[in-house]
Amino acid sequence: MHVSRTVSEHVEGLRRGELRVSRCGACGVPAFPPPRLCPRCGAADAATWFTASGRGVLWSVAVFHRTYLPEHPAPYPVAVVELVEGPRLVATLTDPTVPVGCAVIAEIDARADPPRIAFRPDDHEGAAR
Ligand SMILES: [Zn+2]
Repeated sequence: MHVSRTVSEHVEGLRRGELRVSRCGACGVPAFPPPRLCPRCGAADAATWFTASGRGVLWSVAVFHRTYLPEHPAPYPVAVVELVEGPRLVATLTDPTVPVGCAVIAEIDARADPPRIAFRPDDHEGAAR
């Protein structure tokens, strides 16, 4: 599968089971996928990559009722998760009933092609509250 240059670091990380995301190397603002220009300081091509924990909060979720890929038969949830490190990711959920605001953690399927991320409730985080 073709992978654009701007996210190849992310996809290669997933193949190793690592969640690689980006922030501005000049001002540190989280920004993923890496933007051409930083939305805060305007630095050009300044993204730096780091390995995120995989922990975050469910920021938004929608249910897709059309099948685009055979591995995702409709209906299926599509979530926006805000990682604790700041960047937001679009991925699926293991459980479509997870409420917005719930602590979640990434499960990486490194063997899929392309590798995939699904978020599940972070039971450890829930028990700590
Ligand atoms: Zn910046």
